[in-house]
Amino acid sequence: MALVNEPILEYRPGSPERAALQQELKALQQIEVDIPLRIGANRIRAARQFDCVMPHDHAHVLGRFHCADAEHAKAAIDAAGKAHPVWSRMPLEDRARVFLKVADLIAGPWRARLNAATMLGQGKTAHQAEIDSACELIDFLRFNVQFARDIYANQPLSGPGCQNRSEYRALEGFIFALTPFNFTAIAGNLCVAPAIMGNTVIWKPSERAVYSAHMLMDIFEEAGLPAGVINMIPSDIPEPVSEALLTHPDFAGLHFTGSTRVFQILWRNISNNISNYRNYPRIVGETGGKDYIFAHASANIDALVTSMVRGGFEYQGQKCSAASRAYIPASIWDEVVSKLKAQVATIKIGSVTDFTNFMSAVIDDSSFANIKSYIDFAADSDDHEILAGGTYDDTKGYFVQPTVVVAKTPHSKLMSEEIFGPVLTIYRYEDAELEAALEACDTATAYGLTGAIFATDRTVICYLTERLTHSAGNFYVNDKPTGAVVGQQPFGGGRASGTNDKAGSMWNLIRWTSPRTIKETYNPATDYAYPSMLPDSSN
Ligand code: NAD
Repeated sequence: MALVNEPILEYRPGSPERAALQQELKALQQIEVDIPLRIGANRIRAARQFDCVMPHDHAHVLGRFHCADAEHAKAAIDAAGKAHPVWSRMPLEDRARVFLKVADLIAGPWRARLNAATMLGQGKTAHQAEIDSACELIDFLRFNVQFARDIYANQPLSGPGCQNRSEYRALEGFIFALTPFNFTAIAGNLCVAPAIMGNTVIWKPSERAVYSAHMLMDIFEEAGLPAGVINMIPSDIPEPVSEALLTHPDFAGLHFTGSTRVFQILWRNISNNISNYRNYPRIVGETGGKDYIFAHASANIDALVTSMVRGGFEYQGQKCSAASRAYIPASIWDEVVSKLKAQVATIKIGSVTDFTNFMSAVIDDSSFANIKSYIDFAADSDDHEILAGGTYDDTKGYFVQPTVVVAKTPHSKLMSEEIFGPVLTIYRYEDAELEAALEACDTATAYGLTGAIFATDRTVICYLTERLTHSAGNFYVNDKPTGAVVGQQPFGGGRASGTNDKAGSMWNLIRWTSPRTIKETYNPATDYAYPSMLPDSSN
């Protein structure tokens, strides 16, 4: 059967999915969950706990998770080691059955509950949760199974009298999956992709997304995942856990998504330990972005403005792919600015339980403080001017209004640094200075994750696509730079944005296998000499 992407439910008023989701939202807010560590078959409670709160109402505690320390990390290494011999030698189709069942559980009985957890715990609207914890995660699970089959089917040629084959072994050791707060689907995929290839995994979810992570562990268990294949050890203090894992000889790979800063710390730690490992570890990291929209004078202005709003402000700009800088030519500037201001003025922001809101709160106090610091900087700086928004309030939830800033220079702070919040900075360039604007777009930041161009003139589309070759691993023409779909737009970027191993494709799965080539000869040679060694007289 051909693979299809999971259909996105709409949650219209009166629909069954809306009623089911509202019921789960209500139910989850009435209980507080105790979240243990999951090591092998054990649920472990630790001395220290950390609250899972709702970003839009931070006094509301959804649950408490137990915090792992270095000893728990060592126990998880043991559990992953114990599960490895059976899991890694299990036929692919048996491993696949587990993850296909996980997909079915999420598509069916768990859909509303996992979406509700993602909404309440990570501050997503119904639509944002649906495209993440339902559709993208289901797609990762089903497509990864197919990508694994495709890899296994890739076999070498055989010659006369011999047969060759490639055996796709799991890596020898454990995989450390270290995941970010912003996508339940990414968190799931970073564990599942190596596990499908036969690896065992130690998962440290983000301390700001343990609430949905815990639910995922329940779903894995219900689908029959053997104990020890994925071990979850959350912690509010990640360093000791990470240190225990990265210094162990069985550390075989890092599957990371998060900030560039943390990825570089981890890479350095791995380098420092390189002579202690049994194997050279695989390092896969998808990291930060400063994603752009570059408009040409021939752009369709309504499509451009809608992409700036959706790309910049959906999920409060907390997507690695969020549009956070835009280049607009002078000839269309006034119209773009007036339409942008008009649209931004209509955006409703508030609780995720009110389905009429387009945006909710940012994830936590440190994120709020960071975003606020950029807005305050813009307000005080001669280089920037705030065009819309610019206000914030964390009294009840961590709310930041959608903010549009004009940058007067193309390399200004807000045009260069990742903010990870609802702040879109725009720069006006003279139409005659297209080349200088493209140069700025290509060089203003260290990142290279996503980018979008808007133009209708084909010659221009060709030129911009070529000119911006290395500026983005995911490049969009007349569309917003967010919303990659598994199997359609394999995701990842270069430069400081990561190793570009393309989540949602076989390129990622290939990193989690160590092929063994097996040659079998039917009639092995029994004489070491070659015909070329015979003396001339024998002719
Ligand atoms: P983060 O880097 O703060 O955290 C990621 C994970 O690393 C978390 O589990 C965290 O607990 C852990 N961590 C933090 N400091 C650590 C340390 N010193 N040692 C070991 N572990 C540590 O990222 P975040 O705030 O959760 O996520 C946002 C970031 O992720 C943004 O930069 C965003 O661009 C990036 N992101 C990238 C992609 C992508 O595909 N490129 C996707 C999603 C998010």
